[in-house]
Amino acid sequence: MPSLSEVEAIGVVGAGTMGNGIAQVAATAGYDVVMRDVEAEYVERGLDSVEDSLDRLAAKDALDEEPDAIRDRITGTTDLDDLAAADLVIEAVIEDLDVKRDVFGDLDRVTDDGVVLATNTSTLSITTIASATDRASDVVGLHFMNPVPIMDGVEVVVGEHTDPAVVDFAHAFAEDLGKETWEADDKPGFVTNRILMPWINEGIRAYDEGVADKADIDRGMKLGTNVPMGPLELADHIGLDVALDASETLHDELGDRYKPAYLLKRKVEAGDLGKKTGRGFYEYE
Ligand code: NAD
Repeated sequence: MPSLSEVEAIGVVGAGTMGNGIAQVAATAGYDVVMRDVEAEYVERGLDSVEDSLDRLAAKDALDEEPDAIRDRITGTTDLDDLAAADLVIEAVIEDLDVKRDVFGDLDRVTDDGVVLATNTSTLSITTIASATDRASDVVGLHFMNPVPIMDGVEVVVGEHTDPAVVDFAHAFAEDLGKETWEADDKPGFVTNRILMPWINEGIRAYDEGVADKADIDRGMKLGTNVPMGPLELADHIGLDVALDASETLHDELGDRYKPAYLLKRKVEAGDLGKKTGRGFYEYE
């Protein structure tokens, strides 16, 4: 595995919403990026998206360089072999296990041993994706949030065989892009989507069952719980296909998650009611 200071070129597989965002933040941090998609028109669309986003950031004085200088560090391609020189590859193709496993099998062949292969999967198992390679120790989850240039957080996900040095490398790389990280074990949905997807689906069900108008569902959750987007807006922002794929994985793996949690009942029975009693899941002065 290269040390972070030796990393110069990043490969990104997938030029969609997340792939082009990842390419943009890596190029903004000074890395050369090769971004690959299956069709030239998807690559072009991804590059156009990066240009638009960089122009918007430049208009807000949020870049240290001219947008063109950053854009010029990104090369688009449809040829997987162009990722051969990458020191790190981040996969952001559709949320389909078979497609991701095919991509990782190819990446294993194309890249040098020791090059870290990261997946941006929302919910799929890092361990299962890694098993398509002969180097599971090099595979890690690097789960960027959408929109990548704006969101501060990256979830680092540890597969069954991920080398601890690769986990450290993943944190350090994300931090080098100006992100903050947290770590999750390879369990369905990790921290973020395990908790977020039931919330989005409940918002959709509430709308479907006539609990409120869709705008009031989003308004109610924004004003009532101080989140920046309500569930229906956020589902649109994520992409309904991406949200459905993620929800289906969680449903297959976790089943019915809507019963009150056992630990919630036990805490209440113990009188640990949160801030008001000085102890809930955390302790308070
Ligand atoms: P998207 O549909 O916008 O883009 C996916 C891209 O992958 C498409 O351009 C498609 O042509 C391309 N692709 C498909 N097969 C490919 C292959 N074999 N090689 C190269 N490119 C290929 O999807 P997205 O929203 O960018 O999601 C990508 C990944 O990121 C998914 O795993 C998703 O779950 C995850 N993710 C999405 C979000 C979100 O909010 N959209 C957030 C975090 C993580």
